[in-house]
This record gives sequence, C-alpha cells and structure tokens, in this order.
Amino acid sequence: MLFQNNYLPAGMGSKGIVASTAALAILLQQGIGDTIRVSLTPEPGSARTKEVVVAQEILQTMGLRSFTPMVTACPGCGRTSSHVFQELARDIQQYLREKMPVWRSLYPGVENLNVAVMGCVVNGPGESKLADIGISLPGTGETPVAPVYIDGERKITLKGDHMAEEFLLLVENYIHDNYGVNGKKRHATKVIPIVAQ
Ligand code: SF4
Repeated sequence: MLFQNNYLPAGMGSKGIVASTAALAILLQQGIGDTIRVSLTPEPGSARTKEVVVAQEILQTMGLRSFTPMVTACPGCGRTSSHVFQELARDIQQYLREKMPVWRSLYPGVENLNVAVMGCVVNGPGESKLADIGISLPGTGETPVAPVYIDGERKITLKGDHMAEEFLLLVENYIHDNYGVNGKKRHATKVIPIVAQ
C-alpha cells in the first residue's frame, strides 16, 4: 500500500511553503511515506505547477532525489554593490529549469548539477569551490572582476558588462562536457529510497 504525505491546509505564498516543508520534512526524515504532495493556495491567476516545484525542491534539498540543477546564491548584505548577483541567480535558475525537458534525455545526470552565484570575495570563492561551477561577483569596493571556479579550481576571471551572459555560456559548456556523451558526470538520476527506520 502506498502512503502519501500531504499537508492540505498549507495556505498561500511563503506561509504555505513553510508549513508544507515543516510537516513533510519531519515525516521524510523518519522514513515515513512513499509519495509526497504539496498543496498550496495559488495567487490569483498563477499556475498550480508551483506545488510540484516546491515538492521537488523539498526532496532535492533533503538529498533524497534530484530533479533539476540547483543554484546556490548568497542572500546579499552590506558588501553587495548591485543587484547583479540576484538577477544572475534568478536568470540561471529559470534557464536551467526551462531547459530540463530537453536536457533530461540529452544530459542524464545534469539534475545533480550545483551552480553557485555569490556576491563578494568573503564567502564567494569558498562557496563557489564547493559547487560544480560557481562565480564570485565583486562586492562593494572590490576590483570589478568575477573569478569562476570549476570543479573546485579557479579557472577563468570574467570582467566587463557581459559577465552574466559569459557565465551562462560557461555553465552550458560545463554541462555539455560533463553530462554529454562520454562526460564523466553522466549517470542516472540520484534516488535515495526512503526506508522506514
Ligand atoms: S557572499 Fe558576500 S555579499 Fe554575499 S552574503 Fe556573504 S558577505 Fe554578503
């Protein structure tokens, strides 16, 4: 018998997401349930697919199953000099999600990709090294250059007005090289079965 975890009266916006995540995370951590469902009250006119995205992100954040590449981004602080890191993090996450229907068969394993978009030199290099590919954008008072780290090593330094586009191209090349035919990271979807303890 399949057991579905579902938290129905979750609500709208961040309240609904937090309530669903809190309820489901406890059950999943204890190995309870075969499937999950997130129920969110949609904003007027918005799509119901948000429920699916949130359910996938809960499973992926908990390391149970990957669905789409994840973008790690810093929250920003007094050291952030512009909105570039916010826009880049949003654009890349959106782009990766839109590409997944095609990439799923073309680049098996790409759903496990981790991309970092960081706002300054304080935590940027460290977090970028932990990702498959990461960029450390310049913060307030820093030289306007953005080192890019690939598999933990500083490989390229971007500068100028087109850093976002150039970084996106580097991410695409990384995916092609690592998840395409003969790519060393090309493999099946990571699925960790939930086992009752
Ligand atoms: S990486 Fe830099 S800009 Fe981003 S939150 Fe940390 S200190 Fe602030």
